[in-house]
Amino acid sequence: MRALCWHDVNDLRVDDVPEPELVNPRDVVLRVTMTTACGSDLHFIDGYLPTMREGDVIGHEFMGEVAKVGRKVEGVEEGDRVVVPSFIGCGSCGYCQDDLWSLCDNTNPNAALQEPVLGDTTAGIYGYTHAFGGYAGSHAEYVRVPHADENCFHVPDELDDEQALFASDAWATGYMGADFCDIEEGDTVAVWGCGGVGLMAQQSAALMGAERVIGIDRFPERLRLAEREAGSETIDYTAVDSVVDALKATTGGRGPDACIDAVGMEAHGTGPAHAYDRAKQQLKLHTDRGEALRQAIVACRKGGTLSILGVYGLMDKFPLGIVMNKGLTVRTAQQHGQRYVPDLLEYAAEGEMDPSYLATHELELEESPRGYDLFKHKEDGCVRPVFVP
Ligand SMILES: [Zn+2]
Ligand SMILES: [Zn+2]
Repeated sequence: MRALCWHDVNDLRVDDVPEPELVNPRDVVLRVTMTTACGSDLHFIDGYLPTMREGDVIGHEFMGEVAKVGRKVEGVEEGDRVVVPSFIGCGSCGYCQDDLWSLCDNTNPNAALQEPVLGDTTAGIYGYTHAFGGYAGSHAEYVRVPHADENCFHVPDELDDEQALFASDAWATGYMGADFCDIEEGDTVAVWGCGGVGLMAQQSAALMGAERVIGIDRFPERLRLAEREAGSETIDYTAVDSVVDALKATTGGRGPDACIDAVGMEAHGTGPAHAYDRAKQQLKLHTDRGEALRQAIVACRKGGTLSILGVYGLMDKFPLGIVMNKGLTVRTAQQHGQRYVPDLLEYAAEGEMDPSYLATHELELEESPRGYDLFKHKEDGCVRPVFVP
């Protein structure tokens, strides 16, 4: 079958690879009908995340049709149309039972690679380094889904692929980030980043009753999407002297009630702090450029909530004194998709939220390297390229 493979830093190619097979009795093999690129893929494409190996199939956000079913799978049958969260849950460990699916204790066979850096192990994830499990990814004609009864969610017939696909990750992650904020009526929520996850966080915050949602980015077309699709107010951070001052000014000097970082370790910014981060990152002295997160900490009102969705490794200059003295609540996680996907599919079916506008470019799998190029450089208004194998 054809699949998009990682060969080296900034070297992705579509190759012929063997088709996946059922390995365990609770596996299914899915024929992928649609899959999308994610900002977190860029971290290993750019060389900031180690433990990729030549020939690894990438991609972790996807949906498809069940092609083969293991003999112990219950509730999923050949031909079913399903969407699959990017982190793999087992459904039976204490973490899965507590709905903390990305912390699953059983689905990452390479825990020893992760522990030195992360202190413990996350769940496995498709197509995302050997430290995160070494599972083959979804930018392929077929993908193996382990623990299928816990990880396959049936897509209502009335939804098309673009409406359901983003429940796999971008939507579930953004929704979780808003959920972390325990939004109350009258709240103001600021969201750094108007990419897929940031836009989903903004729309979800509005859905949960935020009175004002403020999206922060630098790309005019993304800011327009935030205004049009999420009803957000926006700040172009290249057009203001200080994002923090702009947020304080618009909230009577208090700052937003909740701040969501949907940017992560490859944040862009302006000014000396950003230049310093970037130089250190390129010298491999630390892995993260933390501009967005630091702004969120400084801007958030006293007693507010900081919700971190951006992916980080090691970061210095983390202003913990501000977090402490302002009494901020910090909430963060990789996405616990299985907890949210059923609700999201219901919202979509009822017409309350439609994330399909994130799919700005639909390409065949053979064109996926070009899709990643458009995505990485945010060319041609690209929010998310989707690939149809
Ligand atoms: Zn993702
Ligand atoms: Zn588990």
